[in-house]
Amino acid sequence: MSLTTYNFPTKIRFGPGACAELAETLKDTGIQRPMLVTDKDIAELPWFSRIEGLLKDFDAQTFNGVWGNPVVSQVEAGVAAYQQHSADGIVAVGGGAPMDVAKAIALLANHPGHLFDYQDEASTRPIDQPIPPIVAIPTTAGTGSEVGRSAVISDDETHAKKIIFDPQLLPKVVLADPKLLLGLPAGITAATGMDALTHLIEAFLAKGSNPLCDGIALEGIYLVSQHLKDSVSFARQMAAGESPDQAAHLRARAGMLNASMMGAIAFQKGLGVTHSCAHALSTIHNTHHGLANGVMLPAAMRFNLEAAPDKFLRMARIVEPAAKSGEALIDWIVELSQAVGLPSSLHALGVSEDSVEKLVGVAIADACHPFNPKPVNKEDFYAIYRDALAA
Ligand SMILES: [Zn+2]
Repeated sequence: MSLTTYNFPTKIRFGPGACAELAETLKDTGIQRPMLVTDKDIAELPWFSRIEGLLKDFDAQTFNGVWGNPVVSQVEAGVAAYQQHSADGIVAVGGGAPMDVAKAIALLANHPGHLFDYQDEASTRPIDQPIPPIVAIPTTAGTGSEVGRSAVISDDETHAKKIIFDPQLLPKVVLADPKLLLGLPAGITAATGMDALTHLIEAFLAKGSNPLCDGIALEGIYLVSQHLKDSVSFARQMAAGESPDQAAHLRARAGMLNASMMGAIAFQKGLGVTHSCAHALSTIHNTHHGLANGVMLPAAMRFNLEAAPDKFLRMARIVEPAAKSGEALIDWIVELSQAVGLPSSLHALGVSEDSVEKLVGVAIADACHPFNPKPVNKEDFYAIYRDALAA
């Protein structure tokens, strides 16, 4: 038996109204000149100006130069803004993209050179200076980046995704307020929710031993089974001009916000082949990360089933107590994905057979699949993509 480490250190204030505690949270964290990092769309929402309004006693500034899949040039613009403001900490508001850009800005605030000099497992410079504190306010239920210690940033030209990792990148406090999710459109709710589900399933299946993560993953899968469909249908009702029951809507969003953080906590154990396939889709086709995971998940799990039938059965019984085999989990994923309106195949997503060779080339070099419960070679990637094309 080998030695291992279990890490669950983040302080999370969870519940409706949590973000109203921002000012006292900054005081407790010792931040006096915060820079808010968010994306263009969030910066225009009415509740965002209310968050800015909470900081009237601070010398605060907003950087909203984040959009789409985050790239290095956005980080560099953010570092310039951070230094110009002489900021001493960051408030990250948003989904995975602003969170990851905020972490990368924090890293470069006191470290010279190019962001990719600090790439995980390929770094050419040490991370040996203090990293300014980050307070995170998540506004989607998907990546869970607010409880993670890594940032994924792409090269502007090649779109290749690089991972930056350091324990100091972990936000000091998370203000997890499900109210901020009430206005999320159905498409984003579905795609980010499927990302959270993929984290939970892949973490549970990942090689290595971490029973704490496994327990968190199973409860997270239960929460997704209880709350993702409802979150999407409430979003559809809002889009149709109806006013859904606010308490029920809030319960669904809170369930998914918890599930999303649980996914990111669990995947410190590792991810797997679904994420390698999805990263390649984002690199080649600029596909939304959660959407890519959701579309790949059934084919990837059909590939994995024989490697871990007992674990599949345990997950299946969470979502379908009478399940007799692990295949029931895959049937449930397909049904869920349809119910929340995801495309049923890569074809439906606009990807064709012509792309497969390129996708395989990127996926095989990705850092996630070495944790997959079953080894994955080039031929396997071809087979998984072709399965997902036709599904
Ligand atoms: Zn993911």
